[in-house]
Amino acid sequence: MTPDWALLDKHTAGPLLHPGDGAFRESSAAFNERWADRAPTAVLRAAGPADVLRAVEWAGESGVPIVPRGGGHSYAGHSVNSGLVVDLRALDAIDVDPATGRVVVGGGVLTGALYAALRPHGLALPLGNGAGVGIAGLALGGGSAATSRRLGLTADTLRATTLATASAAVLSCDAQENEDLYWACRGGGGGNFGINLDLTFQAVEAPAASTCLLLWEVPHAPAVFEAVQRVMRTAPEETSLRLGVATSGGRTLVSTVGLHLGPAAELRDLLAPALAAGRPLRADIADRDFWDAMEYLQHETAGGAFAVRTHFATDPLPPEAVAAALDLLAAAPPSGNPDGCGLALFGWGGAINRVDPQATAFVHRDAQYLVSLDTSWLPGEDPAGRLDWLAGFDHLIAAHTTDGAYLNFTDPDLRGWRTAYYGANYPRLVAIKHRHDPSGLFAFPQSIGS
Ligand SMILES: Cc1cc2nc3c(=O)[nH]c(=O)nc-3n(C[C@H](O)[C@H](O)[C@H](O)COP(=O)(O)OP(=O)(O)OC[C@H]3O[C@@H](n4cnc5c(N)ncnc54)[C@H](O)[C@@H]3O)c2cc1C
Repeated sequence: MTPDWALLDKHTAGPLLHPGDGAFRESSAAFNERWADRAPTAVLRAAGPADVLRAVEWAGESGVPIVPRGGGHSYAGHSVNSGLVVDLRALDAIDVDPATGRVVVGGGVLTGALYAALRPHGLALPLGNGAGVGIAGLALGGGSAATSRRLGLTADTLRATTLATASAAVLSCDAQENEDLYWACRGGGGGNFGINLDLTFQAVEAPAASTCLLLWEVPHAPAVFEAVQRVMRTAPEETSLRLGVATSGGRTLVSTVGLHLGPAAELRDLLAPALAAGRPLRADIADRDFWDAMEYLQHETAGGAFAVRTHFATDPLPPEAVAAALDLLAAAPPSGNPDGCGLALFGWGGAINRVDPQATAFVHRDAQYLVSLDTSWLPGEDPAGRLDWLAGFDHLIAAHTTDGAYLNFTDPDLRGWRTAYYGANYPRLVAIKHRHDPSGLFAFPQSIGS
């Protein structure tokens, strides 16, 4: 059957865009330029929930693949396919109830807008550090933030969601109603079970905050890694550090970026072993109000194309792994992308690990570190050598970590992704998928049940 695109256009209020139309690329392109050659046949810029439902119904009847797109930040480009992309960004309502801290957001809200809406009410949610990231994509895949050791994952603060399912039904999902879908939407991953029209979160009073940014030259790396990993392990859950070593433009630097939900004086004391491990090039430790701290921690990226591998670790990387990682970074293929390549350890644990691994679809509840390896390149540069280099780096780090991987840092090259992302929760996710999307309308590489 030839799809009747005109019919879809006729019955939807938002514009249906085709290649060459003004906003077509901006509404469908993946943030990661590794996928720059992917483009759908058309993009529906949904004007509201009714458009989303019509699009789902039409795609089901026409046999056209459909994917929802929020912020477009999927590392694997999972929000762009060859059929119909539904751009959700007009579902941008944010309704904050200051009395209860309940926050209802549209399925296309971006986290930068949500931070801005919470600020006047003195409320906080763990929303991560990418202003252009979509709240649905973030929450559905877990959602880790510098505040997560204290406030939990974004998914842990989700109290309810409204889902447009494959049969174009609108289901309210929470702890009482459609509990299976509510469970799946907390870590099961975006795009798998339907299109989330809205999401309800429980915010809390924003705490006082301080931040740090410490930089060292690479000769200090062994001592700094030893010291900072120990601090990460023993610090209170109010403290969250990201320890990294990265090479860019021929220069390698070690960094510690972090948040403490308390005064800078406490953070400085906690960091004393790190500061003693080597004289930093730069050491900014300062009190900030909560939202300034969130802005300070925003991830700055040059964009371009990139690939990321992740693992979870319960123990610090031993000195021999750190030494081997430094050797690999020194031998990394040069790239014109200022993001370069590197290794980062994000503090895990605290409130994240107080949730039972089976209580939500998000299973990784016993790690102390999320370990992330990355490489980047510019359009036109050959990715093959860099991906080989990343695979070698991964082989090295895998020996010191668990088999898990972080779904939101989606890795399209990951073998064994079912177990790595979902562990023992995968069979239950497949059963829920079969119940609510038996014909597999919502399908993409690495979708549940594929
Ligand atoms: C610069 C940058 C910073 C980041 N920072 C963090 C961070 O601090 N913490 C963290 O945990 N992750 C972070 N991420 C990863 C991010 O959480 C994931 O990539 C997330 O899935 C992106 O969501 P999105 O809506 O922007 O992307 P999209 O590509 O639009 O969507 C991601 C997936 O969710 C689906 N989806 C989107 N909206 C909906 C919806 N309403 N209903 C159903 N499915 C939907 C899409 O189909 C796709 O499969 C970051 C990524 C980048 C590029």
